[in-house]
Amino acid sequence: MAATYDAIVVGGGHNGLVAAAYLARSGAKTVVLEGRYKTGGAATTEAPWPDAPEFQVTRLSYVMSLLPPTIIRELELERHGYKIYPMGPYYQAFREGGSIKLYADDAKRNHEEVSRWSKKDADAMPRWDAWLEGLADVLGPLLLTVPPNIGSRKPRDLAGTLKLAWSNRGLDVRTIADVTRLMTMSIADLLDDWFESPQVKGALAVNGVIGTWAGPYEPGTAYVMAHHSIGDVGDGHLGNWGFQEGGMGGVSSAIERAARSHGAEIRTNARVARLIIEGGQAAGVLLDDGEEIRARVVVSTLHPRTAFLEQVGAENLPDDFAADIERWKSRSGVVKINLALAELPDFIADPGSNLQEHHSGSVEMAPTIEYIEKAFQEARQGWPATRPFSDGVIPTAFDKALCPEGNHIMSLFTQWVPADWSEEPHTAELEAYADRMIDCYNELAPNFKSSILHRDIVGPYEMEHE
Ligand SMILES: Cc1cc2nc3c(=O)[nH]c(=O)nc-3n(C[C@H](O)[C@H](O)[C@H](O)COP(=O)(O)OP(=O)(O)OC[C@H]3O[C@@H](n4cnc5c(N)ncnc54)[C@H](O)[C@@H]3O)c2cc1C
Repeated sequence: MAATYDAIVVGGGHNGLVAAAYLARSGAKTVVLEGRYKTGGAATTEAPWPDAPEFQVTRLSYVMSLLPPTIIRELELERHGYKIYPMGPYYQAFREGGSIKLYADDAKRNHEEVSRWSKKDADAMPRWDAWLEGLADVLGPLLLTVPPNIGSRKPRDLAGTLKLAWSNRGLDVRTIADVTRLMTMSIADLLDDWFESPQVKGALAVNGVIGTWAGPYEPGTAYVMAHHSIGDVGDGHLGNWGFQEGGMGGVSSAIERAARSHGAEIRTNARVARLIIEGGQAAGVLLDDGEEIRARVVVSTLHPRTAFLEQVGAENLPDDFAADIERWKSRSGVVKINLALAELPDFIADPGSNLQEHHSGSVEMAPTIEYIEKAFQEARQGWPATRPFSDGVIPTAFDKALCPEGNHIMSLFTQWVPADWSEEPHTAELEAYADRMIDCYNELAPNFKSSILHRDIVGPYEMEHE
């Protein structure tokens, strides 16, 4: 007889684990079905070098933010091992000489840093920060709000729309206009409105393109920046980013422990082949090995195309909905380059391979907006960036347990290669791309290349298939 639960969660990434924890906490008999050998999804810590298992890397995602404090509190994640080291400053060194550091919460030092590039921009920074904070007050709570069904005349939907309108009654015309413009504006245009220095604009453009198939001149990237700047969503504060102790897998483990503490069952190596649909409703799942598991509620955390078209089946869905999902476009040209280092980068602009503040935050390769744009345009035209953009971090600036003493881990989140590289491996081209990325850093810190002990290159195909 098929095992029966109140709720099945398909996928044991951090979202699936959070869903399971809440379901179990509310008393539902819940099981998580994870296809891989371990939970975590993209929030995972792994040892990618069999010859050097002492090096642990946060292989895909790499920094924490945007986890609502409400969830941290309600699931008591700190008790279950959630521990964040707040990141140091954003750091960019320049080939022409000099560097810039930007701090999440130190207006005085930001003024000093930005003044080195433009006095006018330094004076604009506090106004920019205040403006972003105003937007976060509006956007933060929205991220935890069920979207209203605008256009529906059902009483329940109308009530939902009115409730949202009422909760935003305090907003003025200017704030609403700013939020609306953000959705359609490019980060390059937005920054042009505020700043003049290419170095400062390059620094502030990073959040507009990170993880996005769009260069800084693309409409919508202004919103991407605002989204990433919100930080601690839910409670409406601008937040800092941070490193989880033990890498991003530590976040998943903490949530998994919380889910288990409420009685959720978590199964790995349990790949779901499809959902069982009866009378137009989900009634359970069928695993790859033929096992059937039944539940009144099935939550899927897989990509909507996989969930609806492959696992529910278009034949069980309204035609227009299935067509919308069929047309859903998600593209990425991200390559993760994880490095084991013998020593820290010794930057010409800020000499020394001893641990310094600029090693403790984001160590960027995004010197100007034009640099970032060129990397995107090349990928859009079908080849990998000649000089890629990178958001680099060195979590071992804080978390010494990830590698042997004296060594370091550096994680480079880089962009872009062509989006269709997700369809098949491009091993040799990825190696060459990684070489170029490393050369870019080596121009700024000449010990960089020779300090690399091991490297792990994860392209779009590997991300989707491993
Ligand atoms: C390279 C990279 C870097 C990123 N960096 C960051 C970052 O630094 N900070 C940040 O906040 N976000 C980052 N993100 C985004 C973040 O990782 C994702 O938003 C997050 O992982 C989504 O979590 P999820 O649980 O929804 O999905 P996933 O993490 O994708 O988890 C889905 C799970 O479902 C499992 N699964 C798939 N198919 C099946 C099946 N048929 N049956 C059962 N299980 C299945 C998978 O194995 C996986 O464990 C990054 C993403 C990538 C790809």
